[in-house]
Formats: sequence, structure tokens, C-alpha cells
Amino acid sequence: MDIIVLGAGMVGVGTALSLQQRGHSVILVDRAEPGRETSYGNAGLIQREAVRPYAFPRELITLARIATGISNDAHYHPGALWSVAPQLFKYWASSAPRPYAGVVAAYSRLIVHCLTEHAAWIGPAGADDLISKTGWLQAFRSGPAFDTAAAQATAVAREHGLACAVLDSAALAAAQPVLKKAMAGAVHWQDPWAVQDPGELVVRYARLFLARGGRFATGDAMTLRTDGAGWAVDTGATGVPRAAVRGEHAVIALGPWADTLVRRLGYRMPLFVKRGYHRHYAGEAMPSMPMLDVERGALLVPMARGLRITTGAEFAHQDAPATPVQLVRAEKSARELVALGRPVEAEPWLGSRPCTADMLPVLGAAPHHPGLWFNFGHAHQGFTLGPVTGRLLAELISGEKPFMDPTPYLAQRFL
Ligand SMILES: Cc1cc2nc3c(=O)[nH]c(=O)nc-3n(C[C@H](O)[C@H](O)[C@H](O)COP(=O)(O)OP(=O)(O)OC[C@H]3O[C@@H](n4cnc5c(N)ncnc54)[C@H](O)[C@@H]3O)c2cc1C
Repeated sequence: MDIIVLGAGMVGVGTALSLQQRGHSVILVDRAEPGRETSYGNAGLIQREAVRPYAFPRELITLARIATGISNDAHYHPGALWSVAPQLFKYWASSAPRPYAGVVAAYSRLIVHCLTEHAAWIGPAGADDLISKTGWLQAFRSGPAFDTAAAQATAVAREHGLACAVLDSAALAAAQPVLKKAMAGAVHWQDPWAVQDPGELVVRYARLFLARGGRFATGDAMTLRTDGAGWAVDTGATGVPRAAVRGEHAVIALGPWADTLVRRLGYRMPLFVKRGYHRHYAGEAMPSMPMLDVERGALLVPMARGLRITTGAEFAHQDAPATPVQLVRAEKSARELVALGRPVEAEPWLGSRPCTADMLPVLGAAPHHPGLWFNFGHAHQGFTLGPVTGRLLAELISGEKPFMDPTPYLAQRFL
């Protein structure tokens, strides 16, 4: 079958590879080169430990710290909160203990496959040089916070079969001699992989797709329309005469831009974005693996371009001007820990995590459009999950028995 995949981030490229593996003729369409957006700017963690997606905080003290700007985990544009209030209310409701237990069960069923599904592409894509199988550190400044987190992490690790080591202050200092400041300790999640250039991993996967006969075209996904029994989309660079490509099926894998297209098609789903920033720093002393300074909301990741600092969630309109207050604070905190050096880029990078109110991706057939399929809403872990949901969707499109039950992720749950 001819299939159009709209969006060449980790999710779209993962889907295209899996469809191609099943014998389909696939064309990937993006307005830019593959892996240049959210799948470029993330922290590059393939998060095998992320069995519990980020819930809406339910403790009053946490909410108060966010509302008053004390916490660096979240920042918000007050005006934007109103427009996403219904989504946030559903997010809050889904985060109550009983529904959240169901979310964790459905989410962890995807996460459990992330390393094996990435491994299936990393080797053939010749991308082993980008991967460090070091795990990552969740580090704490205060003893009580560390003790609580260590107990929780140990329980989660036991329940889900994960490897985690608890490092006290001395063990952390010995493991990370670049640290200038004594920390209370850290949880070392040992299963996850760290990618030193996330965008480059998408590029290598895309090159593998092309080498195996796949096609890539520049085009605007918003031109998607029905065409006989199938779908068509306009391709061609700006200023060049447009050519339509056609497919019996089309997949929407547009990450944080999916909502714009699915709304045009009449679907109203509780989607929203959590924006995030990064910047690289040129200091010569980097930790040997990614390290989250939990109480300061700063993730320090050794990468090819330098030490990348990434930030937590910003609730704002996707296209609103950048307000990198979290990054400013994260940089200040990071300078207490390591010799950070000067920023590499003139301006921080800004991107948007594509989120759903129930923390699960949207995957499967578009309920009202034969031949149209969804794969978006991977929130904090789309880089991790792209190859997993790509495989699941490819199996559904091909009419194979899927390797897991897709029901929790279907769009029908919102309609
Ligand atoms: C600061 C930060 C840190 C993160 N850290 C991690 C992490 O460590 N691990 C992890 O697993 N996840 C992480 N994430 C989340 C992860 O980056 C996303 O979930 C993931 O990249 C989403 O992938 P995607 O393919 O759905 O979207 P994208 O990578 O954004 O791809 C969407 C594609 O659609 C294209 N597109 C948009 N509009 C059009 C149009 N009109 N026509 C044609 N093409 C179009 C874009 O050009 C883009 O290539 C992080 C996110 C942020 C912001």
C-alpha cells in the first residue's frame, strides 16, 4: 500500500520505518528536514524508567509553589491557562489515584519496549556512536527530599523490574567528581540510554528509511485532503510548483502541531502543550551522565554540542514569544554545581511537548475518516516511545495482530 506519513520527528520516522518493514511504500512529508523540531531539542533520554507519566500535582503545597513561582518545575502565562483550563481540569482528574493507576498500567506497557524497539533501528542505522548506556541521575540537595525519593524509586523499581541504585552524598561525589557542591544524594536509574545528539538519531533513522527505498518530500501537512478513496497532500518547496502525493492511507504524526490539523477535520481532543527550553554550555567539566537537579528543575545532559540544560514545563500558547525564566534559573543553579562555561547559542531553543489530558498518546484509526491514522500526544516521552508506537500503529494499519492491546490509546476515548 502507498502510505503518507505526515511529520518526520521521532514518532513519524519510527512509524515510517515500521510501515516500510511491513512492505508498504511510504512517503514521509515534513515542512522541514527530519528531526529538526521537538525531537531535536529534548534531553535525549530513552527513558526505560518512565513507567509513571508526569501527573498533575495534587498536593496543595506543590501547587502553591508553582502558583507563586517558587518552584522551577513549571511556569505559566496566566492568559494561556484560561484557554487550556478544560484540558488541565481533565489532566488533574486523570491524575487522581484511581484513574492514574490505570494510566500507569497503560503507559508502562509501552515504555517496557522502548529499549528493544530503539535497538532494532540503532544497529541498522549505524547510530551506536550516539548512544551511552549509562542511565541517568536524579540528584537531590536536601536530605529529606532525597530520602523520600529514594524510597519511592526503590518501590517503583521493584514493582516494574527496573535497575536503580541509591547513591549517598559521598558515593555521588565519588561518581561525579566534577560536582563543585556536596549534594544529599542521587537515585541512579541504570536502564535508560542517553543520546548525545537526539536530532541526529532521527536523521540516522530517516537515512535508513531512505536507504531502504523510502521517500521524503517537503510539504505542508495542512493541505491534507481526501482524494478518491485515499488521501493527498501538496509537496514542493516554497516558490516551486506544487505536486500532490497520494496514498491509500495517511498518518498524522505532527507532534505539537497535530491539534491544528485534527481540529480542521472536526476532532476535538483534550490536547495541550508544555513548552520547554534548552541551551548548551561550553564548560570543559561535564557530568558523565545526565543529571537532574530535582529541587531546581534543571536537567544537565552531556551532549555533542556541550552541556545541554533542559527545563521543566511552561504552560503557554505554543506560538507565544519565548519567556525563558526557567532556563535563567536553571543556569544559575547549574553554575553552583559545575564549571558551566559560556552559552554556545545566542538564544535558547524553545519547543513544545505534545500532551494529552490523560497522559497517554493518541494512536490508531481516525474514527470518522477511513484510511486516516493518528500517532501523536507523546508528551514527555515521545523520543523514547516513537519506535514503540510506530510499530504498534504499523501493525494496526497492516491488519496484523498487534503486539499489545491498543485500546487505551485509541482516539475514541475522547469522542
Ligand atoms: C525540553 C524537552 C525535553 C524533553 N526530553 C525528553 C527526553 O529526554 N526523552 C523523551 O523521550 N522525550 C523528551 N521530550 C519529549 C519529546 O521531545 C517529544 O515527545 C517528541 O519529540 C515528540 O516527537 P514527535 O515526532 O511527535 O514531534 P516532533 O519531533 O515535533 O515532530 C513533528 C514534526 O511535524 C512537522 N510539522 C509540523 N507542522 C507541519 C506542517 N504543517 N507540515 C509538515 N510538517 C509539519 C515538524 O516539522 C516536525 O518535524 C522532551 C521535550 C522537551 C520540550
